[in-house]
This record gives sequence, C-alpha cells and structure tokens, in this order.
Amino acid sequence: MNARFTPVSRCWVCDGSRLSQVHEATFDLHEYATQDPLLAAYTGASIPIVRCAACGFAQPAALPALPRYFDRMYDQRWSDEWVRAEHDGTYKDAVFADVLSGLTARLPPSRRRLLDVGAHAGRFIATARRAGWNAEGLELNPKTGAFAAAATGAPVHQGNVHTFDADAAYDAVTLTDVLEHIPDPRTVLRRVHRFLAPGGYLAIKVPNGPAQRVKERARARIHRGYRPSLADNLVHVNHFAPHSLSRALEREGFREVMVHPGAPELPPSGRAARFIRRFVFMFARAAPGGVHTPIALHLQAYARRD
Ligand SMILES: [Zn+2]
Repeated sequence: MNARFTPVSRCWVCDGSRLSQVHEATFDLHEYATQDPLLAAYTGASIPIVRCAACGFAQPAALPALPRYFDRMYDQRWSDEWVRAEHDGTYKDAVFADVLSGLTARLPPSRRRLLDVGAHAGRFIATARRAGWNAEGLELNPKTGAFAAAATGAPVHQGNVHTFDADAAYDAVTLTDVLEHIPDPRTVLRRVHRFLAPGGYLAIKVPNGPAQRVKERARARIHRGYRPSLADNLVHVNHFAPHSLSRALEREGFREVMVHPGAPELPPSGRAARFIRRFVFMFARAAPGGVHTPIALHLQAYARRD
C-alpha cells in the first residue's frame, strides 16, 4: 500500500498534547482508482480521531502525506444537472435564513458587504442578495463557482482563504459547513479575520462534534451493521464542541463570541423528519444550556472583529 501519513501531535485549537482516541476514521477512495491512483491507494487505511483533554476539540491523529490530499478528494467531476440541483435545492434554506437573521441583528443596515466562503453553487449568495446584502463568494471548485456567479450576478472569486486576499473589505464573512473540512482551523480564522472591516462579524456553522458522536453511536445501536462514518476519508477533520469553537475564535482575536445551536438541514422529502429536526433545533435553542447537550447537533457561532 502506498498510503502514508504525517502525525499531528498537538491540538489545533489550544496546542494541548493530551489527546485520546474517540473514534476511528477509515478510508475508502476506490472510486478514484482511475482518476487518481495515489489517492485511491488510501483505501483500507484508518486513522484515530483524538480528543484534546484540555479543550475538548477532536481532530485526526495524522494527516495523509499525499500532497494536496483534500483538493484531490474534492476534485469531483460534478455534472451540470447536479450543480443546478444544488443551487435550486431548499434543504439548507433554514440554515441560510438563520445565518442572515443573526447577522442582520448584529450589523446596522448601512453595513451589508458580505463574503460567503465556500460559496458552492451560490444559493446562499442569491438568498442574501434578495435580502439586501451586497454578497460575494469565494469558491475553490471552478465549476460550482462559475455557476454561482452566473446564477446570482455576484462576483465569485476562485480560490481558498489562503490564496484570496481582501483587507478589511467586508462587514460580514460566512463559513457555513466549511470549517469542519479544513485542517488547522485557526489558520482559516486568522485569514478571515483580516477580510473583515473593524466591527464586522464572522458567522460560522459547523456540526457539533460530541453531539454527532452520540447520534451516530445511537444509530449504530438501533441499526445493526451501521458504522459511524462522519470522519471517513477525513471529510470532517475538525470536530468542534461549543467550548473549543469559542476558544479558537478568541485565540484569533475575535470578540463578542457567541455559540448557540445551529439550524438543521431539512430534507425535501419526509414531512415527519423535517418536523422532528425543526422541533429538536427550536427546543435546543430555547433550553438554557441547550448548546451543551446532544440535541444541539449543529453549532452556529458569531464573533466580532474589533
Ligand atoms: Zn485543545
């Protein structure tokens, strides 16, 4: 086997070194056998996901040594139909509405310049522009980025937070379902901090790591043969809990950090599933301390640049 790894020995959030295993991530990349044999060679490998005793953050014990592993894994050749369906799909609309309402409440109407990092097919940009935001996007994938620009009429910059630069250009930056995918998340927060104008706000939505682990374990008990898979192929590398997310933001100089339960994705089919997810979310947000319980399956954070 060709798969090699580079150990990660310190916590990416607090630099702690007491890390203990909470999960195991396995690799199955056989579908890349023709497109990228070196990537496909990771199939069959596994890596512990370890939790930091000091801050509760969980991360991989090692990363693939293959150069550009994550870019190569996300280099999926999506069809035009799939990209259009992602733009038209309503399943994230409750999340987008929640993000916009949190930002609208924090910023005066004169401050509406917004950058959506990981703009995907542009549905959030379109939603924000309809709500009066001067929204732009940043997207790594050229195909989804081009679609987002054409569909919204907004500038969608091609690249990632490290290649893109904009000094104090935005009143709001959004990272929705993005930060869990990028190793060493504080370097991402450091970059987006500089994109914000003074007094601007960052909005982050990520899965709640401990709550997702509880849910996956429960599912595995109910459905024999189901194996928790959230971290497989290291699709999710960062497993935040409320405390570790706050701590990462504060360490990068953000102020007025607030973390509360995040809105759920709502599947288009299945009224019962939609109702249950919405109810669980509303209950988690209304309950004192709800963000620290397993019913807060997602986290929504806001943080201000001084
Ligand atoms: Zn830590």
